[in-house]
Amino acid sequence: MRYIYNAETCKYEPVIVSPKDAAKKLFQFLAITFTLGVGGLIYFNSTFAPVDETIQTQINQGLKAEWQVLYKQLDRASDQLHALEHNDDQNYRVILDLEPLDQSQREAGVGGREKASESIMYPLVRQAYEQAEKLKNRLEIEAQSLQQLQEELNKKEKMWASRPAIQPVSNKDLTRLHTLFGLRMHPLLGYVRPHNGLDFTAPQGAPIYATGDGSVSIAQYSESLGNMVFVDHGFGLQTRYGHMTKSIVHAGERVKRGQVIGYVGNTGTSVGPHLHYEVLYQGTYVNPINFFQRDLNNREYEKLIEIGSQSVTSLD
Ligand SMILES: [Zn+2]
Repeated sequence: MRYIYNAETCKYEPVIVSPKDAAKKLFQFLAITFTLGVGGLIYFNSTFAPVDETIQTQINQGLKAEWQVLYKQLDRASDQLHALEHNDDQNYRVILDLEPLDQSQREAGVGGREKASESIMYPLVRQAYEQAEKLKNRLEIEAQSLQQLQEELNKKEKMWASRPAIQPVSNKDLTRLHTLFGLRMHPLLGYVRPHNGLDFTAPQGAPIYATGDGSVSIAQYSESLGNMVFVDHGFGLQTRYGHMTKSIVHAGERVKRGQVIGYVGNTGTSVGPHLHYEVLYQGTYVNPINFFQRDLNNREYEKLIEIGSQSVTSLD
């Protein structure tokens, strides 16, 4: 209720507003509000919107250019990874006797992860996300593959180091090599018996070398082999050294290829100073020459064959 001062009555009297006047005032209010609203909108659009759109367009263009750079980087990373995968499959795995990984193994798990990208509404972002996910997945698989290669390489290195690949007596000390392996007349017993190793004739006291890494399983005296040493190389391989004047290792000791384990002698059933040398694979005697000849250079091998060709008997 509004009041107005009446000068004639000197009183404040209530103002009576008719419904018609009220409707008229409401209409005026709405008309002014609408006019101001529309006018403001037109003014806003004509003044500010074009500026915003220009900036927005520039931002969009900038973003698109940056996306292109990102895609190129992703493609480049993918190409580099592909080269690494190719090398892995075609070179490293071939050298180490491993099967190459097939493509399905390399992309395993990608499908499940792609679902996470479904919630991304912008196609450019989604595409980049999926591409990055695939790369990440391939990288994980490749990292696992390289880890496997490293483990295999360590195993092979250990195996190669354990292989009885060198001569147990140096060529400079070697005066004769008896390459007879298999059945032959025993020089002392006088009957046919297998000769399960090679005989290296060398001066008494010449050093005897472990032919591969391993651990000494036996170091003792026996009637037939005299002072003898057995070395277990692992991987099913064992070497035996007999007729030593003395051994300088003990059972359980680790030995490295080329380490002196004893000296040439004439103990046990032997007709002269020499080393009787055997190689066993899975418990079966094998010809040692098949192992160490690969480790010799041409001159050493020729010398060995020349020395070996001079003998037709064993010394046991
Ligand atoms: Zn022998």
